[in-house]
Amino acid sequence: MKNIILIAAPAAGKGTQAKLIEEKYGLIHISTGDLLRSEVSSNSELGIELDKIMKKGQLVSDEIVEDLLRKKINSSNSNGFVLEGYPRNLNQASRLDVILNEINKKIDYVIYLDVPFEIALKRSSGRLQCKYCGKIYNLNDEKLRPLKNGICNNCGKEIYQRNDDNEESFKIRFNTYLENTKPLIDYYKSKGLLKEVDSSKDCYTVFSSIENIIGK
Ligand SMILES: [Zn+2]
Repeated sequence: MKNIILIAAPAAGKGTQAKLIEEKYGLIHISTGDLLRSEVSSNSELGIELDKIMKKGQLVSDEIVEDLLRKKINSSNSNGFVLEGYPRNLNQASRLDVILNEINKKIDYVIYLDVPFEIALKRSSGRLQCKYCGKIYNLNDEKLRPLKNGICNNCGKEIYQRNDDNEESFKIRFNTYLENTKPLIDYYKSKGLLKEVDSSKDCYTVFSSIENIIGK
C-alpha cells in the first residue's frame, strides 16, 4: 500500500506525474477538482448544490471537499492513492491527518516537485491540450510534443494552447503558491515524509526520480 501526496508549483508537471504514478503502481488518482466535477455530473443532491455554487463562482467549503475526499479515500483499493491539489495549506493538512486517522490510513510519501521559476514559466507557455480527449502536450518538453503539429496523437483532433497566463500573472500565481506552500513543506519535513524531486528535467527523468523513492 502506497499513499502519496504530490505537492508542486504551477507548471511543475503535477498532472503528468500523477498520471504516470497512477499507471505504474495501480494507485487511485485523487484530484479535488475531479472529485467536485464528478459529484456534479452524478446529479446527486450534493452535486446539484455544488453545481449552483460553482456556477456562481463561489468557493466550495472545506467541509464539502473533506466529505468527498473521505468517501473517495475510503473507496480506494489496497494499492493506495496519489493525491494532488490537496492539501493547499496547513489547516487542510491537519484535517487530512484527522480523516486518515479515522479510517486507519496514513501518508507514506509527500513528493515535492521542485522547479525554478524560469523553467515553470517556459513550460506554462508551451502547454497544449486536446479539446476532445483532454490529453496534455508541451512544446517545451520534447517527450511531450505532439507527433503532428496541432493534432492530437490519441484522437486526431485539434489541440489548443492552454496558457491562460501572461508572464506577470504567472509570476504572481507562482509566488503566491510558494508562499502558501512553504509551511506545508516544513510540516511534512518535520514528520519525515517529505521527498524533494528536481522537476526541471523532462517528464520521464522526473518520473524515474520518483520511482527511486517509491520503489521500481
Ligand atoms: Zn485527443
